[in-house]
This record gives sequence, structure tokens and C-alpha cells, in this order.
Amino acid sequence: MRVAVADEGVSGLTATKCCLDEGLDPTCFEWSQDNGGLWWKLHHFLTEMYSALQ
Ligand SMILES: Cc1cc2nc3c(=O)[nH]c(=O)nc-3n(C[C@H](O)[C@H](O)[C@H](O)COP(=O)(O)OP(=O)(O)OC[C@H]3O[C@@H](n4cnc5c(N)ncnc54)[C@H](O)[C@@H]3O)c2cc1C
Repeated sequence: MRVAVADEGVSGLTATKCCLDEGLDPTCFEWSQDNGGLWWKLHHFLTEMYSALQ
């Protein structure tokens, strides 16, 4: 069965993994260029801040 997952944040990636575990056929839709949602954005922000402080 095909399944649409809206977003590639932590919730979307987890939902996608669960779908795969259940033998479903998920397609993940993410409107930004990066996956990981807020976790990725926070990592990116902290990396830039750390670089600026050096
Ligand atoms: C400053 C800060 C620090 C945090 N620290 C922690 C921590 O230490 N530990 C912890 O466990 N949690 C932490 N959190 C909380 C954690 O980041 C969130 O609970 C978690 O990221 C939520 O995941 P999510 O997938 O539900 O949403 P999000 O991470 O917000 O992902 C949503 C995704 O959906 C996409 N999207 C939105 N609308 C659409 C659409 N219409 N079509 C396609 N894509 C769409 C967005 O681009 C985004 O990539 C923190 C949050 C913040 C803001």
C-alpha cells in the first residue's frame, strides 16, 4: 500500500521507518531543502554560532 508522509522532521522520518517496517510503500514530502526538521535547523544554527565565536 502506498502512503504519503508529510514532512521529513523527526516525526515524519519515524513515521516513514514504521511504514517500511510494516511493509508499506511510503513517500516523504518535505518542502525545505533539508531533512531533519527543527533538529537539523538547530544543529545548523549552533554550528554557525560556534564558528562565529572562534
Ligand atoms: C530551540 C529548540 C531546542 C530543542 N531541543 C530539543 C532537545 O534537546 N531534545 C528534544 O528531544 N527535542 C528538542 N526540541 C524539540 C524538537 O526539535 C521537536 O520536538 C521536534 O523537532 C519535532 O519534530 P517534528 O518532526 O514533529 O517537527 P519539525 O522538526 O518541526 O519538522 C517539521 C518538518 O515539516 C516540514 N513541513 C512543514 N509543513 C510542510 C508541508 N506542508 N509540506 C512538507 N513539509 C512540511 C518542515 O519543513 C520541517 O522539516 C527543541 C526545539 C527547539 C525549537
